[in-house]
Amino acid sequence: MNICSYTLEEFIERVQSLHGFAAPGVVIGGLMVDLAKQHLPEEGLFNAVSETAKCLPDAIQLLTSCTVGNGWLTVINIGRYALTLYEKSSGGGIRVFLDPAKVEAWPEIKNWLFKLKPKKEQNLELLMKQIKEAGARICGIQHVTVALHLLEKKHRGDIVQCPRCNEAYPGDDGEICLACQGEYPYIVSEIPDIRGASHAGEESSC
Ligand SMILES: [Zn+2]
Repeated sequence: MNICSYTLEEFIERVQSLHGFAAPGVVIGGLMVDLAKQHLPEEGLFNAVSETAKCLPDAIQLLTSCTVGNGWLTVINIGRYALTLYEKSSGGGIRVFLDPAKVEAWPEIKNWLFKLKPKKEQNLELLMKQIKEAGARICGIQHVTVALHLLEKKHRGDIVQCPRCNEAYPGDDGEICLACQGEYPYIVSEIPDIRGASHAGEESSC
């Protein structure tokens, strides 16, 4: 089995180095990107949409030149395990999704997709085995046209300096930056000693 220009083993290694571990969701995502690419012309500029923030964006970033950072990958977090690769100017593209009817034949993949078992009880080995067996047969495919105007990044005005925190922010956000307006996920305190901190052993969401 190949995933784009990689063997499955090479792809799993790449997943490990980007994602931290060989997450089955990213491996499935790789199959999905590969399937979408097979239905698109080799030439052309393609952008991507992921319908979930979990795992799939990493598969897209590993296998295409679309990243969240360069703006060619848009994550619309509607929670479906699906992605679309589309032609930049026309919006015409291919949407690949996990088809529950097809997944039915692979019980461990079904357990994973529908979260039927707590993560601790998942049989990772069996899951990976079924992913290898199933390949892209668990996927459905659709021709779609992306509503490009919905994905346009809105211009948020000139960049100005916030009178409260003194940092730069888009002026259309208001008199002070959004962080100073309270949309701030942390409390700033003394610089803590974070040396030695790691994600090892942490519960992952995928
Ligand atoms: Zn501010």
